[in-house]
Amino acid sequence: MVSVEEAERIILEHTKDYGAELIPFESALGRMLAEDIYADRDLPACDKSTMDGIAIGYAAFEQGVRSFQIKGTIAAGDEPIEISNENECVEIMTGAALPGTADTVVRYEDVAIENGVATITIDAIKSGQNVHCKGRDRKKDNVVATANRVIDAALISMAASVGKSLLLVKKLPRVVVISTGDELVDIAVQPTAYQVRRSNSYMIRAALLQYCISADMLHLPDDGDIAKEQITQCLEGYDVIIMSGGVSMGKFDYIPKALEDAGVTRLFHKVQQKPGKPFWFGCYEDSVLVFAFPGNPVSTFLCLHRYFIPWLEGKLKVKSERQKVCAVLNEGLTFLPQLQYFVQVKIAVSDTGQLLATPMEGNGSGDFANLLDTDAFMELPMERGNFMKGEVYRIWPFKQII
Ligand code: AMP
Ligand code: MG
Repeated sequence: MVSVEEAERIILEHTKDYGAELIPFESALGRMLAEDIYADRDLPACDKSTMDGIAIGYAAFEQGVRSFQIKGTIAAGDEPIEISNENECVEIMTGAALPGTADTVVRYEDVAIENGVATITIDAIKSGQNVHCKGRDRKKDNVVATANRVIDAALISMAASVGKSLLLVKKLPRVVVISTGDELVDIAVQPTAYQVRRSNSYMIRAALLQYCISADMLHLPDDGDIAKEQITQCLEGYDVIIMSGGVSMGKFDYIPKALEDAGVTRLFHKVQQKPGKPFWFGCYEDSVLVFAFPGNPVSTFLCLHRYFIPWLEGKLKVKSERQKVCAVLNEGLTFLPQLQYFVQVKIAVSDTGQLLATPMEGNGSGDFANLLDTDAFMELPMERGNFMKGEVYRIWPFKQII
């Protein structure tokens, strides 16, 4: 049996770069950018008006000119119309290119137009107002986004505007999620009172979809030979195998032996924690990792969030270092076993902006209904048995908490 810290250290030691791939930028939301992106031209590419109004030379206004003959209208996308003297202006629309002979835009709200003449109706304007200058945001060949950041909507918009139709992103591991257990039936089947529908694989698959990983799913009966054979096949086709069930002390818990028979090296079995104590972790030829979680849904859920997701985030550098989030215990509780206790908590934000964690223990590892009402696991230190209101501990959120 290993401690939570040892288990985490062993898992995080097993990192491998899966390389990078080019994909269409529209499909890149949520992926990790693996290249720097450059501006292909100045941003903006010319001086532009930020308002609908008239464009003038500021010098004319300074000399007292208030009424201007309208020479024409420039729409966004048009080539600019130059003005030929200080008594002229052009009407200009938002986003349209400013003529080189003008430098200031006065919005329609501050102008009266009659018989082709625009008269400025306010006393003061500023030189260069309402103009977005060429290259002001980024210059041509400047980096607009650096590698190792998650691609979000703002980045997609930037990729579109610099014409990057393909983006280089980190490759994702190929993952298979395997459930085990003779009592488990397909979700379309009406179970007997003694059976349950397989829910863990869907839960794991859903959590991985948040990281753009579309995992395959497989179900195994409680049969050591079949398990070994199927695991052997999966070891050839996947980078990561996530299993649930069959790793405890029961008569039908064949998975640790099947994994070892298939050539997977055990790196640890059992972690000093509750829930999820029977967690088994191993690797095959330094390439495939096997996370075999105990089957109780809350155990699987905890192991996934406490071990697999931090490993994935570390590997994909989704976050350079996982943000450590702590919360204040809002009610005392007692937990005496020599295990690190991950208690489910409901999170609220106090008036002063602190995260407050109210324990909601539920009815053990099988009570996954409780996960719907809670937001995070709070990791309580093993050395202690009594935890007091006001104490601060690390949490592992499994929902958006703020
Ligand atoms: P095991 O770890 O195989 O001993 O399973 C522990 C408990 O978790 C049993 O009550 C199983 O029925 C339940 N269980 C195992 N796998 C799943 C699953 N995929 N979906 C829902 N419950 C499961
Ligand atoms: Mg089982």
